[in-house]
Amino acid sequence: MVRRVSDGMSDFFGWFPSTTFENNTCIFASNFANTCAFDTKDGLVIFDVPIRQFGKKTFDEVRKVTNNPVKYIIFSHGHFDHAFGYVPFLEEIKRNGWDKPEVIAHENCVRRFDKYEILDEYHDWINKQQFSSVFKGGNDSVVSAHEILKPTIILKNNESSYSFKLGNITFEINHDIGETDDSLWLWVPEKKTICTGDLMVSSFPNVGNPFKVQRYPKDWAIAMEKMRDNNAKYLVPGHGRLIEGRENVRDALSITAEAMHFVHDEVVKKLNEGKWFEQIYHEMLEIYPERFKKHKMLRESYGSYRFAIHAVYRLYHGWYDSGNPTDLFPSKTVDIARELLKLNSENTYLEHANRLFSKGKLQLALHILDIIIKGTVKQDVNALIKALELKLKILKIKTRAEPAFIASNILDNGANEIKKRLNLLQKSI
Ligand SMILES: [Zn+2]
Repeated sequence: MVRRVSDGMSDFFGWFPSTTFENNTCIFASNFANTCAFDTKDGLVIFDVPIRQFGKKTFDEVRKVTNNPVKYIIFSHGHFDHAFGYVPFLEEIKRNGWDKPEVIAHENCVRRFDKYEILDEYHDWINKQQFSSVFKGGNDSVVSAHEILKPTIILKNNESSYSFKLGNITFEINHDIGETDDSLWLWVPEKKTICTGDLMVSSFPNVGNPFKVQRYPKDWAIAMEKMRDNNAKYLVPGHGRLIEGRENVRDALSITAEAMHFVHDEVVKKLNEGKWFEQIYHEMLEIYPERFKKHKMLRESYGSYRFAIHAVYRLYHGWYDSGNPTDLFPSKTVDIARELLKLNSENTYLEHANRLFSKGKLQLALHILDIIIKGTVKQDVNALIKALELKLKILKIKTRAEPAFIASNILDNGANEIKKRLNLLQKSI
């Protein structure tokens, strides 16, 4: 079960009270991810359902406002926090003998659900790392691939939009790629409202997520600009607070588009200059503009500019990213570490790591510690324990200092793994 949200993440993970706008006809429910229900005289249109653990909570929040039957459910994309909390809505339909709703998704969402079927355990493993601080110690699967609500209206690749009317309200659904290749966003002109799914979240976009498949920064920027052209008054993001007011909506979309264009175009420029990843990455950190760093919509609370650099590089480049032929068919890192330990003892490396630590060079200290941690033979338990203890200390410091949720979870998860290993080692001596 979900236990807690890590500090500072409440703005992203949206546990805000549900609210309504446009005379109670639009219901904004925010439970981990956001749902927007549009109440028309002929029934409800629901954009996104939350993670299945919060389906009932969102259902109750909608039902406090209206009893109209659900006619349409739209999936912004097929991620577990946007398409799995539908059960209470379907149970209600069954109970009342109402017609089944149409379920609208992009065909890549259907492919995603097929992928979930073959990678069920893998995704569980990944999610427990990516969300380790939220699902700490929990055994409950975040998502079950076997609980999918099948779409009935499927947008095909060559079809970038679909619209329908319900109760004299127009629902215009658009397909663009960005965080995923199955993204749909919704424009409801009579309600002056855009629902973006995860194309807009209260954070730097989650582009270049270290666990996930390719994402699309340039197309993301283009989607933002298309949305901006509608001049919406309300923007329902995938996560975070409802954005209200034409100026605020325009500003949020513009700055996100600008940042995505920037990271894309600058990495492309450096690729054309014949640079390898390491050089590109460090140069990109140096030229990141202050106006992006300071903007509240681009805070690194979830995604990170540092990850976005990877996303662009990976979009155009293969896995050989160093330009050094040594790296083409590398030896095992354990074997390299063992050779280095033949040149200098564990204690020499440990002393050096401690010196780096005391000078605040934490990242360099980690690299040196890994020589001991990877290369030490089993007999040298004491050196290994000392190296692990220092690594644990550094990872804890880094976790506390890290603003980006996914990055801090990776660091935190690494620290927890070391704690477990230390416990076992201490028992063995
Ligand atoms: Zn999401």
